[in-house]
Amino acid sequence: MQNPFQNAMAQLDKVAKIKDFGDEFIACLRQPDRDIRITIPVKMDDGSMKVFEGYRVEYNNTLGPYKGGIRYHPNTEINEVKALGFWMMLKCAVAGIPMGGGKGGVTVEPKDLSKKESERLSRGWIQKLSDVLGPYKDVPAPDVNTTPEIMEWMADEYGKITGDKTGAVITGKPLDKGGSEGRNISTAQGGFYVFETLRRELGLPEKCKVVIQGFGNVGNNAADIWSKAGHVVIAVSDSKGGIYKADGIDIKKLAEHKKNTGSLSGFEGSSNITNQELLEIECDLLIPAAFENVVTEANAGKIKAKIVLELANGPTTPEADEILFKKNIPVIPDILANSGGVVVSYFEWDQNLKQEHWSEKEVFEKLRPMLEDASKKILEKAREANTSLRMGAFILALERIKEKMRG
Ligand code: GLU
Repeated sequence: MQNPFQNAMAQLDKVAKIKDFGDEFIACLRQPDRDIRITIPVKMDDGSMKVFEGYRVEYNNTLGPYKGGIRYHPNTEINEVKALGFWMMLKCAVAGIPMGGGKGGVTVEPKDLSKKESERLSRGWIQKLSDVLGPYKDVPAPDVNTTPEIMEWMADEYGKITGDKTGAVITGKPLDKGGSEGRNISTAQGGFYVFETLRRELGLPEKCKVVIQGFGNVGNNAADIWSKAGHVVIAVSDSKGGIYKADGIDIKKLAEHKKNTGSLSGFEGSSNITNQELLEIECDLLIPAAFENVVTEANAGKIKAKIVLELANGPTTPEADEILFKKNIPVIPDILANSGGVVVSYFEWDQNLKQEHWSEKEVFEKLRPMLEDASKKILEKAREANTSLRMGAFILALERIKEKMRG
């Protein structure tokens, strides 16, 4: 299997064949503006010193300051961060917000760190990067395994170093530290608005059977939002495995069960399944909400969902995309489906700079029409070029970036 950046470049090659954007423009997008690798020494609680590898990729800032989260994961490496930065560039363009694309990370197993060690690592990340970050330069946010509390430490560290007290250098902060209402559920909520906009067009029923891979912030909130809207969530999983319950899972009870037992398995009335089995369940809507490269050449042929909605970044490989397209299974791409997170991040940045605080109702009232509009435009682009929704989204994003570059 290719690394995520090779997948991203295969997608770029593909769109360049569908629409002529000019070789120079495509060449500009083949590498990030800069990728920065840092070394972060952290004093551990036992007095020893551990050295961690960290990254910030500033992919492209044509549309605005670099924007994108920071991931803490043992498998995080530069090619993953570059791919995620590339997708952030497209995501912001698709959503129509004045932000560019970036991404950051640290190669670390966060479960091995105490709270104090995590704080020292997070502050260390900012110390090494404070000169390239800034509200008008590069604005990080949470991603896999990074929390509002981590954003708070980072914003505080940046403020100490630079004197900037707006908080606008980082989004996804806790509510009482300049965070936006709705930010914690915004990725899943945005995905739901996209789904609602496209549901009928894509021939899905009123009440869908839903399967979700991932039970972190995004997967858990998605399960909750879809169930509350009257759909039936029949299977969910986390990194250890999943559960299946044909008549629907009570998500609140499942979240409690996971809190008490540390895993999803053994949930009352359900049967345990593997992550692989989960992807192959017959359902209306399959939502990958965890990691890259889970729907691959090896399993795409076995997918029995009617639609795939990507709340994770990069879950479908280019080969799997082809297979699903031929099988007539539309994939609502990550750069549209999960863009609610970064849009509300942009709202947070805007509120911080204007010293405002919007209600959750206001936030979602602004978010919804933006995602409805992006969804309709992408469907139109895909139909015009007789291509997939992913390629429709790429066309929309690249047209917007190219237009701005020219201007
Ligand atoms: N990490 C999220 C994403 O992949 C949000 C990024 C942000 O809010 O800047 O879209």
